[in-house]
Amino acid sequence: MAGVKLVNVTMKYGSLIAVNNISFECREGEFFTLLGPSGAGKTTTLELIAGIKKPTKGQVFIGDRMVNDLPPDERDVAMAFENYALYPHFSVYDNIAFPLRAPRRKGELSGGQEKERVYEITNLLGIGELLERKPQQLSGGQKQRVSLARAMVRRPMVYLLDEPIAHLDARLKISARSTLKQLAHKLGITILYVTHNYREALGLSDRVLAIRKGTVEQIGTPEEIYEAPVNDFVARLVGDPPINLVDGAVVNEDGKAFFQGDDFRFLLKQELLSKLERASWEEDGKRLVRIGIRPKSIRISSERLSDASFQLPVYVVVREAKNSIVTFELTHNFFQAVVNNGVHLKVGEKVWVEVDQKNLYFFKKSVALTK
Ligand code: ADP
Ligand code: MG
Repeated sequence: MAGVKLVNVTMKYGSLIAVNNISFECREGEFFTLLGPSGAGKTTTLELIAGIKKPTKGQVFIGDRMVNDLPPDERDVAMAFENYALYPHFSVYDNIAFPLRAPRRKGELSGGQEKERVYEITNLLGIGELLERKPQQLSGGQKQRVSLARAMVRRPMVYLLDEPIAHLDARLKISARSTLKQLAHKLGITILYVTHNYREALGLSDRVLAIRKGTVEQIGTPEEIYEAPVNDFVARLVGDPPINLVDGAVVNEDGKAFFQGDDFRFLLKQELLSKLERASWEEDGKRLVRIGIRPKSIRISSERLSDASFQLPVYVVVREAKNSIVTFELTHNFFQAVVNNGVHLKVGEKVWVEVDQKNLYFFKKSVALTK
């Protein structure tokens, strides 16, 4: 087992910079996740660690060893890809045992040991009964688990898992997630995991790296990423419905500070002002800021609850199992609140909206607002 370290790594495809001067360290035994939207450079980063691609610049370390010049099969990493390429003519058993039989590993394990390894991983992944089948006799979810088992059957220094459960349906995903967590815990292995799904990232990882256009935005524990996002991009990456972002100015009247947006205005609590000072900026003689409020930190009522309230007309209400999602239309984007199903709201009705100031974020602008 070993950790992985990247130092100022850049990867260009022609003129496109897929990975832009990235540095991070995944510690030995850590479950470390790269979280970012499609095209952010996640797969490329794993490929650079696996040795499938060579960085344009920078160094890759596995353990203490700089591996830039080592071919993939000498790096002792196992990689599972999003697109499970199983050998169609092999049984599930032979597909999974395949990495153990690679020429350079011949003789490492006896036949009995090989079976033990395959049984251990397939039982953990719940595919122990499928060993005799051929890939075409499997569902998509089963194929994905077979592919994961194949990546995890060896005991390499590091596992590289690229969206390994992306193609499972919602229910299987939840069970695969707990299996993965169990596996990581049981084997105590170093896992570099890639996903665009924030639930997977926050649910599985010891630490998460938020990546945007090949650049590291934040590295932190799931709690830090969710509770203390460093900017609006990271804030928007985690949470569903996504955090509300609203642009506006800080207006001072009678010694009080108000947030003044295009669609509403409310009083800002005194204790927020230093936080606000750090994030806001001067423009055309105004003090501007972008606020962030999670939909769960908003209360809705028919009466004015506090100074931090404002009125908006209901645009649409979508009822879910436990809660309803209320959407309001603003000039530049939508504004959403998660409320108890007991609250009955009519479209077009003007209601009072109150933001929980303890959970109010202030940001500079770095993502575009859209409807
Ligand atoms: P992610 O896995 O986060 O979706 P990728 O690492 O696959 O991102 O891609 C990062 C960027 O590099 C994207 O803009 C993608 O189109 C580009 N890219 C990836 N692979 C290649 C390649 N082989 N040739 C050219 N461009 C590529
Ligand atoms: Mg990818």
